[in-house]
Amino acid sequence: MIRRIALALTLAAVLFISSPPLTNNAAATEYDIIIRNGRVIDGSGRPAYCADLAIKGDRIIFVGSNGEAQKYVGRNTRVIDLGGRTMVPGMTDAHHHLSGVGFREMTLNLEGINNLEDFLAKVKERVVQKKPGEWVTGRGWIETFWTPPVFPTRWDLDKVAPDNPVFLDRADGHGAVANSAALKIAGVDKSTPSPFGGEISRDKQSGEPNGMLLDAAQDLVQRHIPGTTAAEAERAIILGVNRDVALGWTQVQDPGGSYAEVALMEKLYEEGKIKLRIYKALSAPGREADRLLSEGPIVGKYGNHLTVRALKLYADGSLGSRSAALLQPYSDKPDTSGFLTIKEEALQPVLQEALRKGIQIETHAIGDRGNRFILDQYEKAMNAVPKAQWKIKEPRWRVEHSQIVNPADIPRFAKLGIIPSMQASHAIGDLHFAPSRLGIARLAGAYAWQSFIKSGSIVPGGSDAPVERGEPMIEFYAAVARKDLKGFSGEGWHPEEAVSREQALRMFTVWPAYAAFEEKLRGSIEPDKLADFTILSADIMKIPETEILKTRCVMTVIGGEIVYEAK
Ligand SMILES: [Zn+2]
Repeated sequence: MIRRIALALTLAAVLFISSPPLTNNAAATEYDIIIRNGRVIDGSGRPAYCADLAIKGDRIIFVGSNGEAQKYVGRNTRVIDLGGRTMVPGMTDAHHHLSGVGFREMTLNLEGINNLEDFLAKVKERVVQKKPGEWVTGRGWIETFWTPPVFPTRWDLDKVAPDNPVFLDRADGHGAVANSAALKIAGVDKSTPSPFGGEISRDKQSGEPNGMLLDAAQDLVQRHIPGTTAAEAERAIILGVNRDVALGWTQVQDPGGSYAEVALMEKLYEEGKIKLRIYKALSAPGREADRLLSEGPIVGKYGNHLTVRALKLYADGSLGSRSAALLQPYSDKPDTSGFLTIKEEALQPVLQEALRKGIQIETHAIGDRGNRFILDQYEKAMNAVPKAQWKIKEPRWRVEHSQIVNPADIPRFAKLGIIPSMQASHAIGDLHFAPSRLGIARLAGAYAWQSFIKSGSIVPGGSDAPVERGEPMIEFYAAVARKDLKGFSGEGWHPEEAVSREQALRMFTVWPAYAAFEEKLRGSIEPDKLADFTILSADIMKIPETEILKTRCVMTVIGGEIVYEAK
């Protein structure tokens, strides 16, 4: 329907060429926005060229040569002169926990801390603002950058928080540290067994829980933390959205969540308070998944701003917390090879029903065992349900992260039509500890973007914010440089797995669009597509690598609406 309207508008525009100059009652045929004098990188692979763009409603009507748009300027047309700035298709983060990003801004943000002392000082600062007994929560710490790189313990936290329960998520969300007061409330002690899919870390000598809780074990404490109110959840979404559009994101693909969260998003769209496009997956298995499977998807609501058609599952944990499932033991802790977090019995019914109902599946898998397991499971479900019963011929199931994959499994993705959805910034953060966790040999197949592309996969790029910072320029840089923000990359870090700038641009534009069934709608700058653009201070296809990180978002346009403009 929308498509037909756009075509009608294009036709109207063509007819108008032979008409007299615009007058103020020509509002129906004048364009809403003319963007002039921009260096357009349209996403087709063509180098930047100077062009004018015309937008009517939420669509691009034409991309033409400089000056061509002038005759369509009417009284209500907004003319934007980009002054030679660079315009790329609206950038998309293919893996971005939107509420998590907002909550990171709202609670104790422990990013960027370099040692235990500073970590404790920051916690203490928050504790003194609270009444005894009140919870202190936060996230974002990551000990791999600390000297020495060891997990904090309950006893460390007890020194600064003797009377307040404390629960602090590691940046990756797969581990958290709790103090003694929190463990006491949760009833976690020496006799508490680790739950399936999780681990209560213990002191080697005494066997007492040391405060570190991995994956499913986090819930033992987490469920005692007073829930966030709807008002706080709403604020988190707004904060996350405002931050994201200012960085140049035009869509985030948000893996995992609930209908309650979707209802909040709907409310915020209806009130006009958020403009970012959200491609939301609901958590599975469980109640949310059952409801999506029975009610069916929400596609393109609010002018293609909100889509809910996917389910998010977990196959294993994380590399940093050593809970990612590996085929061989960890090189730096040979008594463990991590663990799977879901069983086949729980997985197969969801997968098979999803095929019948046309629901996309996206599963977190980090380790080579986690990845092989999920590929096997996807394959099994696809063989179990006859093709005639698949609601969608191309289900485009995804594996989120596809981080450490046995090289023999890489071609299986393209063969099965499974999308590896990967994070460039994980590679440049993890390069400081992945070699010790995995050993040099296993790095072949780790963060192997180029091998995936060569094997025929498309690779949507995401940041996994708030695990990483969640900034488009950091992601773009990480994908092309494969070095940390200081330009460092260690021995054996496979520089040949870096991608070209054209590939990197696709990772954050048309490939996530494809992974969301939206490649006909967005992801490139061409007539009839949604008018989503990220306008940058420099040509990221050309400037020296190090300058990519200095590049700023100047303007963000979503559906023909300017949602951010740098001052
Ligand atoms: Zn994630």
